[in-house]
Amino acid sequence: MEARAASRSGPAAESNAWEEALAQLAQAGRFLELEDGILEMLSHPRRSVEMAIPIRLDSGELRTFDGWRVLHSHTRGPGKGGLRYHPATTLAETKALAMGMTWKCALVEIPYGGAKGAVRCAPDALSVTELERITRRYASELMPLIGPGRDVLAPDIGTSGREMAWVLDTYNTAAGMIVGSPVTGKPVVIGGSSGRRRATGFGVAECVKFAVAMQSMEPPGPVAVAGFGEVGRVVAELLAAEKGYEVVAVGDVAGGRYDESGIDVQAIAQHREEGGVVREFEAGEAVDAPELLEVPCDVLVPAAIGGVIDEQNAERIRAQLIVEAANGPTTARAEAILAARGRMIVPDLLANAGGVIASHLESVQDAQGLPFTASETRGGVQQRLWRAFAATTEYADTHRLSLRQAALCIAVDRVVEAHLALGLFP
Ligand code: NAD
Repeated sequence: MEARAASRSGPAAESNAWEEALAQLAQAGRFLELEDGILEMLSHPRRSVEMAIPIRLDSGELRTFDGWRVLHSHTRGPGKGGLRYHPATTLAETKALAMGMTWKCALVEIPYGGAKGAVRCAPDALSVTELERITRRYASELMPLIGPGRDVLAPDIGTSGREMAWVLDTYNTAAGMIVGSPVTGKPVVIGGSSGRRRATGFGVAECVKFAVAMQSMEPPGPVAVAGFGEVGRVVAELLAAEKGYEVVAVGDVAGGRYDESGIDVQAIAQHREEGGVVREFEAGEAVDAPELLEVPCDVLVPAAIGGVIDEQNAERIRAQLIVEAANGPTTARAEAILAARGRMIVPDLLANAGGVIASHLESVQDAQGLPFTASETRGGVQQRLWRAFAATTEYADTHRLSLRQAALCIAVDRVVEAHLALGLFP
């Protein structure tokens, strides 16, 4: 297939993320008949920290990176949300993602608020020691604001357990004692959960199966997974191993491979681990990143960045079912087009909530000093996700709403109920 422009991400797409988050909240507020003052309060993050992160590069050059940490809400519990390293990330995007975390935690009934952090940098262009300096400086700037009971970080695009370990070590070193964990998603050897790393992808794959059963799509047919990082790779691996599913396309920012007769996901993962590029794996045909979203398939799992399904490509998406592993992959206009074409979307709030459910279990494990097994974590994720999925579909049917609107209304209602129970200081 012919190559096309690589990415739709960028500052314009990202600032729209906050406007779309506010528009969705306003719509839920109207449906729930919320008081204007409450809606206004929920439309503001409790706190947005903007910071400069100066570090010396390995070359000796001094460079300063922009960083943010946004706490949208701590009404239902401490802040919770990932730390993103990406060259196009912005404060607007971080605010939208922090708000999304508030709704996600409420939807799956875990006792957290919503937060998100980001550093605008290109991790692939930085050395490990430069990334460590960025991460430690970022953590030390936030020292008084993070930690258990305050705000707990987790991996997101461009970060992993490695960065979480650096945050944890910086935090404990500054405190002079082991205070508890300001992060989840840390390596197992330092108290991480053995099921956390694969939990988001596991939850997405479970949601694919719930939705396929609900749509009576069995056998589900071909699946395309766009994004081959921490989340996308696990989704592709799990669905490829599932009876009746055929993964026909996988890819990352550089593009991917499509084969209508099926892709050997394990072989691509191996090739990637050995330093290979997914697009260059010899199987099927090469596709560029935007084109991968449009390959013939029944199930599409966008698992990369936000805003990739928009009004320009929504008409060309062939999947019947779109399960949002990524945060915010579908714009509001694209969603309207897809709905008019009878496509079903399982929204990010629900589809990728497995990660934060497992993060909660990791925090429980930290507090009790007694680790859960990977299978206990999977069981916990599956149980809570199923409950949220069933509640969302029932609410959507009862009130004739989309799954996204239903999930949001359930979540906003729970946050408002908690706010009313707490009252307002002073
Ligand atoms: P990651 O950095 O491990 O992987 C991101 C993948 O997306 C990579 O394969 C990358 O090449 C690809 N990508 C980046 N830009 C792209 C573009 N323009 N077009 C196509 N592909 C592109 O990140 P991740 O942790 O797998 O996160 C993926 C998504 O899942 C994000 O939206 C993230 O917010 C969301 N999410 C992650 C978690 C988690 O536990 N890691 C939890 C909930 C939600």
